[in-house]
Amino acid sequence: MSLKLASIQGRAQFVVGSSAEFRFVDVERSSKGSLPSDVMSCYSVWQSLRAHAATLSSTDGTICSLEELDCPVPQPRQLFAVGLNYKKHAEEMNSPIPASPLTFAKFQSSINTPCGDVQLVGATCDYESELVIVIGTGGVNIAQADAWQHIAGITAGQDISDRTLQYSGVPPQFSLGKSRTGFTPMGPWVADMHDNASRDNLRLTCSINGEMRQDTNTNDMIFDISQIVSYLSGICQLFPGDAIFTGTTAGVGHGHKPPIYLQRGDIIETTLEGVGIIRNRCV
Ligand code: ZN
Repeated sequence: MSLKLASIQGRAQFVVGSSAEFRFVDVERSSKGSLPSDVMSCYSVWQSLRAHAATLSSTDGTICSLEELDCPVPQPRQLFAVGLNYKKHAEEMNSPIPASPLTFAKFQSSINTPCGDVQLVGATCDYESELVIVIGTGGVNIAQADAWQHIAGITAGQDISDRTLQYSGVPPQFSLGKSRTGFTPMGPWVADMHDNASRDNLRLTCSINGEMRQDTNTNDMIFDISQIVSYLSGICQLFPGDAIFTGTTAGVGHGHKPPIYLQRGDIIETTLEGVGIIRNRCV
């Protein structure tokens, strides 16, 4: 099986099977203790995980529902996010196209599980479906051509944003506006893209209560995955398990005229081709 890494009750899990029936195999037990039980420790031994995953069969393991999954990247040492990385989104936000990746931080305390509830604050909370890069081997000054060798895999993420807080001053408060408690769901697992020829060409969608609001392909990014990793590593050392949100496309609530913000009871579904779906209810 190609490697997909999840976490259940604090223990790292291989994901086997297919969308018809996902099954989970405990990483540490399955490897007889040679691989870690903690999911964050897995990113620095990704090659070994990949080799072990290849020995698993689709009928191994136990069945679990998505609701039982923890975030597969619960404690990244650094949690970056790139804004305005799709031309159509920059246009809807009336913002110029950035000349380099416009980077801010989402704080670790905002991380949520793949199906965790999102506690809305105020009346202007918004959704942003994003591809999230998870670093395997860290480093500095990573060349663009080598970037994928430093990436463990990708996962789906929501960069939930409190627009009032985000735009409360000049310049805007990106980091705080996007870091309220529960505003960073990720998952359902981290998928290895080592042998996926379409890894820069994946459909990414967001629906609210079943109504499609965002539908793009990641090949529309202004700065692609390898460019972002290379750029950031030229400034900050990257560490195993660091996560990087890579921006959202057009169709956010704030871009509608008039805006349509999230409301209590809304179900946000985010899908990323090659990874899966996360589903978050607003409360
Ligand atoms: Zn975003």
